[in-house]
Formats: sequence, C-alpha cells, structure tokens
Amino acid sequence: MISNRELFLKNTAQTSNSPRLIEVERVEGIYLYGPDGQRYMDLVSGFNVSNIGHRHPKVLAAIHQQLEKFMHVTVYGEFVQAPQVELATALLDVLPKKYGSVYFTNSGAEAVEGSMKVAKKYTGRREIIAAKKAYHGSTQGALSLIGNEEYRTAYAPLLPEVSFIDYNDLSDLEKISERTAAVIVEAIQGEAGVRVPSKEYMQALRKRCDETGALLIFDEIQTGFGRTGKLFAFEHFDIVPDILMLAKGIGGGMPLGAFIAPKEVMDVIKDNPMLGHITTFGGHPVSCAAAKASLKVIQEENLLSQVNEKANLFRTELDIPQIKEIRGLGLMMCLQLENFDQVYAVSNYCAEKGIIIDWYLHCETALRIAPPLTISMDEIQEACKIIREAIVKFC
Ligand code: PLP
Repeated sequence: MISNRELFLKNTAQTSNSPRLIEVERVEGIYLYGPDGQRYMDLVSGFNVSNIGHRHPKVLAAIHQQLEKFMHVTVYGEFVQAPQVELATALLDVLPKKYGSVYFTNSGAEAVEGSMKVAKKYTGRREIIAAKKAYHGSTQGALSLIGNEEYRTAYAPLLPEVSFIDYNDLSDLEKISERTAAVIVEAIQGEAGVRVPSKEYMQALRKRCDETGALLIFDEIQTGFGRTGKLFAFEHFDIVPDILMLAKGIGGGMPLGAFIAPKEVMDVIKDNPMLGHITTFGGHPVSCAAAKASLKVIQEENLLSQVNEKANLFRTELDIPQIKEIRGLGLMMCLQLENFDQVYAVSNYCAEKGIIIDWYLHCETALRIAPPLTISMDEIQEACKIIREAIVKFC
C-alpha cells in the first residue's frame, strides 16, 4: 500500500526539495507523536504558533463551545459575531489606548496586505519602506517587502514604490520622507536570524515617522503573544507603532491574523469605495474563540513571568564554544553556527533523536529555537543535552 509519506510527496504541493517529512498522528502540549509511537519535542512551536503548547485544554474547550453555536455564517464585517467582538475587545484592553479598531484576517500575510492598503489610503501617499533582510509573508504585496532580492526577482514584477532601509541603522532613517506612506518593520527580525534592534534605533525610527507623517507599522507576527517575555515586543522599546500586525500565536493553534490601528486610521477602508477591503473567512468565529481562550491562558498561567528564566536556562545549557553566539530576546532565539552544512546536520540529528529545531529563511548559519512558553525547566535540560550532543558531533 502506498504510504502517506509517498502520497504527500506525490499529491501535495512541495515548497522545497528537502521537506522534513516527520509524520504526525497526534499532538499534546509540547510533543508531537508519529504513527509508530515516535515522540518529538517541538522546540519551534510550529513556527511561533503554539506559544501555549499544542491543544491546550482551555483552547479545546472554547473551540468545542463555539462549534456548538456556529462556524462560518457570513463574510467579515457584516453580522455581529460574539467571538470576534469579544476578542477585539480583549486585545484592545491589553494594548495602549491609541488603538481603537481590529481587523481580523486569516493569516499574517493578509494582515500585511491590509495594513499597506490602510496606510496608503490614510496618508494619501504611495511609498512603502521596508527593511533589508525582512520577512513579511509570501503573497505578492508582502513579498514586495522581503528584503532578499533573490526571493523578489523570482516573482517580479511586484509592488512599485517599495524601498529598503538597513535595519537597526540610524544613518538610514533619513530615507523616510514626506513621500512615505508607511515604514513596515519586524519588532525583531526573525527570518534574518533573530536580529534584535536597539531601543535607541526603534525610538529614532518612531521619531522620524512622526516628523515625516509616515505611519509606523510593526510586524509582531513572530514576536507577539509573549514570545519575547512581554505580550508584544514593542513594549521593550517604549514606543507604540501606528499599526500592529499579528498572526501565528494569536489563534492558539487556529488560523487567524489581525491588524490593529487607531479608529480614525482604520476607518478609511469603510468607504470610497465601500467594501474595498473584505474577506470571507477572516476572523473565523472558531479561531476567534480559540484566540480569546489562548490570550486568557497566557495571562492566567503567568507565562510571561517565566520566559526570561527559561531563556536563561537555554543560554546556560548551550554555553559551549562551538556555538558562536546565541541571539534573541526571551524564547525567540537563534544559535549561530559556522555554515549551513552544520545547521542541516544538527537539525537532522536532533529530529532523529526526537527534538524539532529548524533554521531561518534568510540566515543559513543559524538554528531556530522558539519553544512553547509552557516548556518546563526539565524539558529544556533534556532538549539541550541532545542539541549539545549534535553540535559537538557535527561542528
Ligand atoms: N511576518 C513574519 C515576521 C512572519 O514570520 C511570517 C510568517 O512566517 C509572516 C509575516 C507571514 O505570515 P503567514 O505565513 O501567516 O502569512
């Protein structure tokens, strides 16, 4: 009989020539289980999604409750759906007062698309500035902002009037001008290999946007929901962006994204033309119910207060000379090795031993570590033992 692995390769679209091919039968907490009883510790949280672990019981309960009431009923923005309203209210409650309106999407890339449209319409300007080495998603608009030419040229032509600045470089901020509709940056550059900007840089960026009237848009799609030890990473810099983009961890494992703006900014998409930015499934009620429960778990289980202690344990356990540097903030980390061969060999060895780590799209010398915030101290020690073993073997 043809196996699922063979059918996966044959019948589902492939995004590379070297998929990881781990077969998943069920998941629980920080573990994935294969059909033959293999157990894998998920040290990347399904790529920064499962911040509270997989299938958290409170998220499952919220999903079941919502399933009993309704799933999809109509396109976004027409009917009053309690899960959307309650989640928007809960998000605005934990955010600075400046924000007043939440637009729900299905994904991160859609949050990026919507934010760009709002910024252009609100400012009446056309130029968007992004950062070199950025990653914001794979739709054509989001792809236009990717700070890696190889990825852009393969799918050209993309959006016009997009230009790039060096991330975390004060001297490049002068490129932001009265022509700029928005500057879109990740709060911490993830796929670039976890590049944490300085507070001085972020504050200067905020100031330059204020001076020129450009909107500052933060991509917190990887950094959001406690990953860095604060609910949102912008809190580390003592600034507030104009538009905040969320996805991944927001849904507690369900597909959901959002962009959040002051009310008067968001309101520009209401008319001229009416229905100029709509979505069928954005803010799906089951996803919103899961997201509300997930946010409550982060708050009630005090997950934020444990992040630094857990991150420090990783750093202590992985303090070996073969690792050139450990970059990151909180539980968004990367281990710097020397080359991709080492990264590839180490991540494969770890997978064989039941530890899932990975690499970053635009930094081939870095290993990705971003475990669920619920990981225990014992589990960190267990995982680090295997990672050390792999690094000593291959580096
Ligand atoms: N922005 C960042 C920083 C991301 O890491 C990603 C996805 O990895 C996206 C945007 C796009 O999100 P999605 O894959 O949900 O479209």
